Amino acid sequence: MLTRLMLFGAALALSGGLVAQVNPAPGNVAPDSAAAGSAAPGSTDWSEPFPPHRMIGNVYYVGSRGLASYLITTPAGHILINSNLKTSVPLIRESIEKLGFHFKDVKILLISHAHFDHDAGSAEIKKLTGAKYMVMDGDVGVVESGGQSDFQYGDDATLRYPATKVDQVLHDGEQVVLGGAVLTAHKTAGHTRGCTTWTLRVSEAGKSYDVVIVGSPNVNSGYKLVHNASYPQIADDYARGFQVLKSLPCDVFLGAHGSYYGMETKYPRLNAGGANPYIDPAGYKNYVADREQAFLSELQKQTAAAKKQ
Ligand SMILES: [Zn+2]
Repeated sequence: MLTRLMLFGAALALSGGLVAQVNPAPGNVAPDSAAAGSAAPGSTDWSEPFPPHRMIGNVYYVGSRGLASYLITTPAGHILINSNLKTSVPLIRESIEKLGFHFKDVKILLISHAHFDHDAGSAEIKKLTGAKYMVMDGDVGVVESGGQSDFQYGDDATLRYPATKVDQVLHDGEQVVLGGAVLTAHKTAGHTRGCTTWTLRVSEAGKSYDVVIVGSPNVNSGYKLVHNASYPQIADDYARGFQVLKSLPCDVFLGAHGSYYGMETKYPRLNAGGANPYIDPAGYKNYVADREQAFLSELQKQTAAAKKQ
């Protein structure tokens, strides 16, 4: 897996340079790496441990430095969002157990979107915990083919992962309910056909907060927004996704990669005695606006290029 990742990183470094000149914002190196411009995007910090911690209410961080996983705890068992790489599973398990919870109590497994950096560990987690795997309709085929039916990366065998049976298909706006926790699945497609932004309400010190876990608003290197034969409605989906993201009330800003919301700078401030750094409504608004601009300028560029042909 390490070799694969390194190969993957090297290939990205070659293709990533072009895009980085056009749009040096984070998140535009495939699949959804935050480490644009580095020699091997994402590959080093994706497997690097990060301290598991309670973020707010019953939301815990159990991911690596570069790949976010969230545990939503309830008295009836837990919900895990993102299984990450195939090799990430022992780390996620260890993080959950360090926090004093039982891995086997994971009852429901969800994902941000069907790319291998968020869903390749799902088969293993299902096997070890018996969790029910729930996936947004547009991503089900990709998950069940182990990445083979992905519109962008399906032909690349190095990005495949164990095909995983989905136990329940989700649709836009549906809720996942367990032990008093209610998560809403918002389809914010484009990055993948079933890219999902999760929302929930949490309580902390007598106050209630809206949590948003962004699926990914990023246009990856090589994505065709115009005349895309394998995903004709991609640009419309992105546009709709941004309308959804802009409509969501957000106090606590989270996402599929910690880099979306600056986790590494916020985490050290968590125990410093001030306000909870993950409460960041302005950061959320700025991020969504920035990513929408990046999408619009890439769309404009590709539209202009298509007209010249
Ligand atoms: Zn992705």
